[in-house]
Amino acid sequence: MALNELQSVEHSGLGQATRRAHVIGAGPVGLMVAALLQPIEGLSVVLYEKRAGYTRLRMVHLEPYLAADSVESYRDGHIDQDDLQAIFDHDGLKEIIGFRQTIEPDLKALLDEWTLGFCPLNEIEDSLSLLIESRPGSRVQRITGVMSLADVQALVDPGDIVIDCTGRNSLLRDALVPRDDEFEGGENTVNLQVECALVVTFLYDKNYSCNEYCKYYKNSENPNYKFIPSVSRTFYDDDVSCVTGIIRITPDEAELMPTQFRGEWLRENFPEIAASMDNFIARMESETHGQIVGDLDIISIPLNLYHAHNATSRLLRERVESGHPLSTALVFLVGDSAIGSPYFQSISLGFECAMYLAQLFSQPDLDIDEILDLYERYVYKQWMYVYIRSKLIKHHKDIFEVLDDKMGLLELIRLY
Ligand SMILES: Cc1cc2nc3c(=O)[nH]c(=O)nc-3n(C[C@H](O)[C@H](O)[C@H](O)COP(=O)(O)OP(=O)(O)OC[C@H]3O[C@@H](n4cnc5c(N)ncnc54)[C@H](O)[C@@H]3O)c2cc1C
Repeated sequence: MALNELQSVEHSGLGQATRRAHVIGAGPVGLMVAALLQPIEGLSVVLYEKRAGYTRLRMVHLEPYLAADSVESYRDGHIDQDDLQAIFDHDGLKEIIGFRQTIEPDLKALLDEWTLGFCPLNEIEDSLSLLIESRPGSRVQRITGVMSLADVQALVDPGDIVIDCTGRNSLLRDALVPRDDEFEGGENTVNLQVECALVVTFLYDKNYSCNEYCKYYKNSENPNYKFIPSVSRTFYDDDVSCVTGIIRITPDEAELMPTQFRGEWLRENFPEIAASMDNFIARMESETHGQIVGDLDIISIPLNLYHAHNATSRLLRERVESGHPLSTALVFLVGDSAIGSPYFQSISLGFECAMYLAQLFSQPDLDIDEILDLYERYVYKQWMYVYIRSKLIKHHKDIFEVLDDKMGLLELIRLY
């Protein structure tokens, strides 16, 4: 299609033409995007995924406000309601929650279920894949294989939608900044390393909860390393809790560790770090007479907070004369390819952006440039919100770690 024809289609809005939407990456967010776009008239979806099956068993927590049915319950689900209110205006939230009420019942039922508690990641991926396949008259074609930037550039026609859901090593993020004199060397990623950490996950056969007092007292025998847990029930059994604890380590310690290992390896190689986790668990067990189900999963990971300056191809479109293959397509980053947050709220964040994008695509009268602008603005707001929240959590964690050291505490706070 010639560019002038493309522009005339675009000015008439999405509703006037059938468009192909290429969703690259079928992790939780890519699958959510595909499931949300599937019922929208005028869109045909192609989903590309390099993995042949879903094997990530780790337990993940989805925020209950994803399933909120009113602005009030959405707000109530946030611990930092003032920040939320400062960033998202009431009318905007009302529209967002209104759209979520129109999500197909099959998908809504899955969201309701997952937000009950911790859920295995591959359960989310498998159920979404099944839902997409089993819907009658499916307009989603799935292709297995690794996509390269050149592949994407070769397959898109002018006016196609490309949604990059390839995760934190995003395929397209850096390709969204034009490489010309003005932008030479321009980066599209802002990345802050928040801390190096061990993430320890296990199941516990009792319904268990742990507030900040509990976290403090259960760490009283841990002078140098603190095991700081997030605890919640599992989505399938009210009596089983999932515990995900973070232990801060130094970059040098991280260098000496594999990325994934069991509790035994930690006990043998880093006994003091292991003791912080074991002391905590021993206290849990003696207080509640429960025990761990299975083994401890431990991951050594740099916890990063990052976002894409440009979450769409808006800049490329301004230079359409450059002939860049993506300048005539509509590219969006969703999920970890757009924003990454360190304290495990990223799937929820990705789902929020996916739902907002679907909300925009479901409005046939919206102009393409308006869609790009609105999506950029929304992703930026989500970034602001998660940035403030993550910095606050990190600051509270730092304070928590020196709570018994008055001078150490004073060094961490700035009053004015
Ligand atoms: C230990 C740990 C615990 C976590 N716990 C939580 C939690 O409790 N709650 C939470 O919200 N988040 C949690 N997270 C983060 C969460 O797992 C990620 O945010 C989430 O997986 C991101 O989803 P995504 O779909 O954006 O990307 P990914 O899950 O990374 O999916 C990307 C997909 O794209 C595919 N892909 C990549 N490149 C290509 C290519 N070139 N061609 C074709 N396919 C490609 C990949 O195979 C993959 O399927 C945790 C992360 C870790 C490491």
